[in-house]
Amino acid sequence: MNCVNLVITGNPGVGKHTIADLFIKHDSSYQIFDINKFVIEKEFAEQVDGGIEVDTGKLKDEIQKLNLNKSLIVGHLAPYVLDQSDINFAIILRKNPYDLIEVYKKRKYKNSKIKENSGSEILGVIANDSITSFGKEKSFEIDATNKTPEIILEQIHNIINNQKGGDMVDWLRLVEEKNEINKFFDY
Ligand code: ADP
Ligand code: MG
Repeated sequence: MNCVNLVITGNPGVGKHTIADLFIKHDSSYQIFDINKFVIEKEFAEQVDGGIEVDTGKLKDEIQKLNLNKSLIVGHLAPYVLDQSDINFAIILRKNPYDLIEVYKKRKYKNSKIKENSGSEILGVIANDSITSFGKEKSFEIDATNKTPEIILEQIHNIINNQKGGDMVDWLRLVEEKNEINKFFDY
């Protein structure tokens, strides 16, 4: 494959930009396409109650016009704005929800935003949506918890070269075992 498009997606705080920057440092023949940056540049985001809303339909149309080539496409919106045929691999970074909460606290997210994003991580929403958009064969989860960025990068290269080597992630079981579902979800 000479023109690989690689997606790095996952919830906020899992390490997408850290890993993307490291990837480019090792292989500058790729160009980063940062979906969030594009959203801001093109003014596709709208301020609504409690956050930002993106018109993903409009965003998808604009991204389709770009003809991305040998790109490292970064963003949690990737599964909603790209098609299976646009990409070769989708890496979904996962992180233990308890560690993720600490990242969110440092970022000074509101409690509601912390719950929403850590809840999404527990349920694996982006991982499931990646599989729906890109297919099982192209979607690979990596558990980034307690791994250095270098180790994660090595795992990504291994996946690209061998079309295998993803992780199985099940935070729901972890949270259930601790009997802490109500810490993340309102009934
Ligand atoms: P994202 O782009 O997915 O929101 P970031 O790359 O901004 O995530 O990383 C979120 C935070 O976690 C940052 O403070 C970053 O320094 C830290 N971080 C990222 N990857 C790792 C890692 N593998 N190990 C430890 N800390 C990490
Ligand atoms: Mg980021």
